[in-house]
Amino acid sequence: YICMKKNYGLLINGKWVKGSSSLNVLNPLNDKIISKISTANIEESIEAVNNCHYAFKSWSKFSAKNRSDILKNFYNLVKKNRKKLSEIITLESGKPIQESNVEVDYGASFIEWSAEQALRINSDVFESPELGKKLFTIKSPIGVVAAITPWNFPLAMVTRKVSSAVAAGCSVILKPSELTPITALELGSMSLEAGFPPGVFNIINGDPKIIGEVLSTNTLIKKITFTGSTKVGKLLMKNSSSTVKNISLELGGNAPFIVFSDANLDEAIDGFMMAKFRNAGQTCISANRLFVHKSVSNIFIDKLINRLKRLNVGDGMKSNDIGPLISDKALKKIIDHVGDAKKKGAKIQFGGNRHKLGGLFYEPTLISNVKKNMKVFNKENFGPIIPMIEFEKDDEVINKSNDTDYGLAAYFYTKNSSRVWKNINNLEYGMIGINSGKISTYLNPFGGLKESGIGREGSLQCLDPFLETKFVLWNYD
Ligand code: ADP
Repeated sequence: YICMKKNYGLLINGKWVKGSSSLNVLNPLNDKIISKISTANIEESIEAVNNCHYAFKSWSKFSAKNRSDILKNFYNLVKKNRKKLSEIITLESGKPIQESNVEVDYGASFIEWSAEQALRINSDVFESPELGKKLFTIKSPIGVVAAITPWNFPLAMVTRKVSSAVAAGCSVILKPSELTPITALELGSMSLEAGFPPGVFNIINGDPKIIGEVLSTNTLIKKITFTGSTKVGKLLMKNSSSTVKNISLELGGNAPFIVFSDANLDEAIDGFMMAKFRNAGQTCISANRLFVHKSVSNIFIDKLINRLKRLNVGDGMKSNDIGPLISDKALKKIIDHVGDAKKKGAKIQFGGNRHKLGGLFYEPTLISNVKKNMKVFNKENFGPIIPMIEFEKDDEVINKSNDTDYGLAAYFYTKNSSRVWKNINNLEYGMIGINSGKISTYLNPFGGLKESGIGREGSLQCLDPFLETKFVLWNYD
């Protein structure tokens, strides 16, 4: 492909370094090798951390204006390279190209916003309760940040973490997903062109267990920010405890999407299609369980099936609606979940099989009669399947929605304002979409309740996770 190099190194201290081994990056569409990346062993990972620590000492002394200007250069370069980056995202993740374009814009918006927020780091001055004293706080960058990102948003998850950390005055060592590392490595190139000083943004790839262990136990690293599975999040949290690292986790979800009887059904279906099928259902805020009021469920199913019939499945580069799943593991999970639901009495209303294209494709699937004991109800499906549950009472649907260890995103459609307020109060979720299937914006404090994670990213407070607060009491008398 013209858009990417045949080989990529590790980015350490502003230089591309050949690692001790390498790894092939595959296209999930056809399993073909699209590029080769260097991987780091323990010593190389530690060297990257040491360089990052060294860079922090000078970067944290750059003025806010200076950091902001460099980030604005970075933003402009990402926008200028939109086409190239979108192609790479689609080639390594399989997502449809139109979604990759949206991801580049969404990911770039975090850089622009962080550049602006770098100029607005402020703190509090208090009226002292006693005479002759000044009480105030100051903010300082937390230190070296380790960022570990998932495959499903190869660009936006990187920029959401890295641009806020860098804007706050931190240096970063990134470990992107081994499934989609090239987008991140291209961002690394652009960061150098934008004027990031050497060592402010380092990228290492390699065995996640080995690198994860280094990043979560090394004393020079003061913060870990992770987006990925709950299982790995818990491991990082445990490992980080030995050095009491500050940690932000954005983990799995099990989003309910609720259609009340008074909803505009056509609008609800539009919102649902967006919340369900983006990235073939492989996002942490994907609608994972569809709850529909009994009085409208038959008509809703008919309308939904009509929409499912119109979805084009195929090569993401050809503007299809649904691309391949990311891996064999992901496909096996979907097959297992659907099989488990069928065995326990669910009804397949549409789809239910691997797609005739073969490979990692799965049919858009609607499953009704879903019960609490089924995997499709309890677990994150991460695929183009819709487990549907009918309900009759508001309390019943809210209790069922909350009946999960997760608490990331929830969606509901209604025109009734009293129901809106009750639902906002009662849904145990960090982010709620009302009459909308889209909640992603740089203004969203992205994150979840319960086992969906700790902390928030983006929003007005996007720099806070990367800043420490110092309190000062000054007796000036
Ligand atoms: P997913 O199932 O969505 O791929 P993972 O949690 O496995 O979620 O992956 C998210 C990120 O975590 C990836 O960058 C992956 O390489 C990394 N990762 C996987 N295992 C570990 C580990 N043991 N320690 C640190 N990072 C890990």
